[in-house]
Amino acid sequence: MTQTPAVQAEFLPFTRPEIDEETIAGVAEVLRSGWITTGPQNQRFEAALSERFGGRPVRTFNSGTATLEIGLRVAGIGPGDEVITTPLTWVATSNVIIAVGATPIFVDVDPKTRNIDLDLLEAAITPRTRALMPVHLAGLPTDMDRLYAIAERHGLRVVEDAAQALGARWNGREIGSFGDMISFSFHPNKNLTSIEGGALVLNNAEEARLAEKYRLQGVTRTGIDGMDVDVLGGKFNLTDVAARVGLGQLPHLDRFNARRRVLAQRYFDRFKDGAAVRAGVALPLADFDNSNWHMFQIVLPIGEAGCPTRPDFMMAMKESGIGTSVHYPPVHLFTLYRQRGFGEGMFPHTERIGAGTVSLPLFTAMTDADVDRVVAAVDAQF
Ligand SMILES: *Cc1c(COP(=O)(O)O)cnc(C)c1O
Repeated sequence: MTQTPAVQAEFLPFTRPEIDEETIAGVAEVLRSGWITTGPQNQRFEAALSERFGGRPVRTFNSGTATLEIGLRVAGIGPGDEVITTPLTWVATSNVIIAVGATPIFVDVDPKTRNIDLDLLEAAITPRTRALMPVHLAGLPTDMDRLYAIAERHGLRVVEDAAQALGARWNGREIGSFGDMISFSFHPNKNLTSIEGGALVLNNAEEARLAEKYRLQGVTRTGIDGMDVDVLGGKFNLTDVAARVGLGQLPHLDRFNARRRVLAQRYFDRFKDGAAVRAGVALPLADFDNSNWHMFQIVLPIGEAGCPTRPDFMMAMKESGIGTSVHYPPVHLFTLYRQRGFGEGMFPHTERIGAGTVSLPLFTAMTDADVDRVVAAVDAQF
């Protein structure tokens, strides 16, 4: 028998999903029902999400990545097309552009919001540009008024990577309830989980039908026995077990996000005028109108006197019983992207933020005292 050291028992992870007993019982019911893959639970989940987004059609998928890729396919993006996005994101965003045969074009981020810099975006548009893929990093929306104005001016589709932005708002309107196509992820780290999964908000019934075809081998069924395949689809459907988890989470989403907001506010209060901030550690933009506080990320002033390296910083946090993580290394510096001609110096803000960013613990079951403990451990390193 092994003994768990005390420090491990108290370890504060950087995130952890909150799943209630009602949901767990609901999952057991689905498992006993005899129908465990895509079926009635998915229909209920799609309907509940659609209701949240003002009645717009919503289709579920087995990951946020699949959701994004199908969004591009429904928009008709393919070989020869350029799609503009940010290099400060999870690599899924640009991988799916390559997966549909299109070319990712990166534009650096605005260091204040850490989202795509809209002052630079228009200069990246060429005659081959077909779509914009903004990412609402850490749940802070990109300026939707400006972005959609640019899209309209140039006749471009928009597939929002809102993987992190469920429940976030732009000027009082919820992300997903307006705009072109909006893609969410329900990975366990996100503000709402279905274990794995995602959902796409579409414009009309025709797009929804096309999304359904791409989701399952391109199949259209008619009558009791009819079947045809007229496009190449894949295998991206969500199981009913997963949909039941998502359904169980949805009534709690607003409470989850409210709790995250309180914790984020406490982070700002505790960091204020502390050693880390005085040493040049950057806090996120304090946006309490729009963000869903998916993450709380600080940026270390790497290379400046008195600043630890990021591995040293993260290791010291770990030794204090605190989990941290990195979201994200700049996508354009990965080998696959270097092979496509990207390299150092192309997106300086992304490179600086990517080198120094650290995600601190932020999840619904965290206590106020946990925040205080995290901030004390950060300040102690400066
Ligand atoms: C999580 C995430 C994805 C992908 O979602 P999965 O469900 O993990 O496939 C895409 N983009 C961003 C910005 C994400 O955070």
